[in-house]
Amino acid sequence: MTTSTSEILIDLGALRHNLGVLTTRVAPSQVMVVVKNDAYGHGLVDVARTAVDAGVSWIGALDVPTALALREAGISPPTRIFAWLLDPAEDLGPAISASIDLGISTVDQLHTISAAGRPDAARVHLKIDTGLHRNGATVDDWPGLVSHARALENQGIVEIVAVWTHIAEANDHEDSLSIARFEKAVDVARELGVRVPLRHLAASAAGFARSDARFDLVRFGAFVYGLPPGDGPSAESMGLRQVMTMRAPVTAIDVLPDGRRRASIDLGFADGISTLAPGRIGVAVRGRRHPIVLPLEVDRTWIDLGDESDVIVGDLVTVWGDGSAGEPTLQEWGNATDTMSEELVVRLNPRVPRRLI
Ligand SMILES: *Cc1c(COP(=O)(O)O)cnc(C)c1O
Repeated sequence: MTTSTSEILIDLGALRHNLGVLTTRVAPSQVMVVVKNDAYGHGLVDVARTAVDAGVSWIGALDVPTALALREAGISPPTRIFAWLLDPAEDLGPAISASIDLGISTVDQLHTISAAGRPDAARVHLKIDTGLHRNGATVDDWPGLVSHARALENQGIVEIVAVWTHIAEANDHEDSLSIARFEKAVDVARELGVRVPLRHLAASAAGFARSDARFDLVRFGAFVYGLPPGDGPSAESMGLRQVMTMRAPVTAIDVLPDGRRRASIDLGFADGISTLAPGRIGVAVRGRRHPIVLPLEVDRTWIDLGDESDVIVGDLVTVWGDGSAGEPTLQEWGNATDTMSEELVVRLNPRVPRRLI
């Protein structure tokens, strides 16, 4: 198989497969598909549309500009779009009018909503901090936040849709503590007269593994794309498929003085090939692994072919993929280059064309 240029393939069939696996696994809890960072480098609108077509009713956008871009692209209600990273200087009016669900941690943010003066009630998800200390009201501030939101709800300015939190998902014990704190916060909200239609806490790891972390909705990011953490089980063992493949044709073959052959591809460190890759990981050519070797260039990578002589210019090199053609997965890449697979995909250069398959 040959291709004339370097490219990133996005396998929408694999994406749909993963959505099916995750939806089935957490039912009757619902699934939110998190599309921050251009859908983890997979393409914001393509991923969101595929998710909506597959029956997903929640999209996690991270911020308001991304949420509005999705509405612009035709992701309309009743699909819910959740934005939880709010710029303090932001006018929330357009988000309220576009029926974006807002993650709210402070009374100041509620003031911003009131100040926007929109006729529609803003849909808000109140966030409690349960140990991660990344936004979220403290236990002390929680009753004040909830009471203020409830007062605004009575005036028709907000609609309280959910109580939520984000947890570390690094170890079971910490997560259990966070779950207990979360349940406490939900009780406090209910005691203050709030209905709490939805509760959500978990992202991929805890949502997949723990039924007690799922509540009404799980916010799945990495697992949607078939990207498990480095220290966990493989995507395949969880029944998931890696959605992204990166590949490039051999552009040159050199014969070194010692008779070894090396092949180049036109992807370098500016394209997202880690500078730690040489000597640490191999890529697949004709179904066999060959190591990446120095020098790693800005737009070119060299692969040691040893004495293998059947590789020719134009042969396809699979840098990463689901492993089915002998190539490493992104999980393997992350482990070999001291990072997470998520970092590798969000660092990709938009210059490399992305193609849906
Ligand atoms: C990124 C993010 C997620 C998704 O996390 P994954 O581990 O990639 O599934 C969920 N919730 C919040 C608040 C996030 O920021």
